[in-house]
Amino acid sequence: MRATANKHEQSALGQVLHERGRRMTRQRQAVFDAVVAAGGHPSADQVFARVRRLLPNVSLATVYNALEALVGCGQLTRIPRTDRGPARYDPRRDAHHHARCVACSKVWDIDDKAIAIRTVSAPRRFKPVGYKVEVLVECPADCPGDARICVATAPPKKP
Ligand SMILES: [Zn+2]
Ligand SMILES: [Zn+2]
Repeated sequence: MRATANKHEQSALGQVLHERGRRMTRQRQAVFDAVVAAGGHPSADQVFARVRRLLPNVSLATVYNALEALVGCGQLTRIPRTDRGPARYDPRRDAHHHARCVACSKVWDIDDKAIAIRTVSAPRRFKPVGYKVEVLVECPADCPGDARICVATAPPKKP
């Protein structure tokens, strides 16, 4: 798994929140850990399902607020919702692109950072200051992804 949260980084999470004027709470740590453990780009619902195993009384609103607090502190990246699927949360903080399935809205990392330079910046002489390319895809028939992730967010099947 490429997620960059090792033990040291997790213990530093509280300090980062503190520096940004936000309290570290058990819920926020659990939410962060759940995003990392999900090993992909989970939605708030998927994070909620994981956190609830640990904190049975936690509410979806609390999980959502914790996710947004972590995004606000730069500890998570939010991949915006689309009409096909919910927002997703990414523990990776380095610049990278995404492929998103138009059917189940599952998201994969694309690590070819040169895409943006090759196809956008260089031809137009733009100076790249960030990367955020989302390629819309259809899952392969033998989707190698986590079936639970696909099922959890899949819209009704087309006839
Ligand atoms: Zn799919
Ligand atoms: Zn990602």
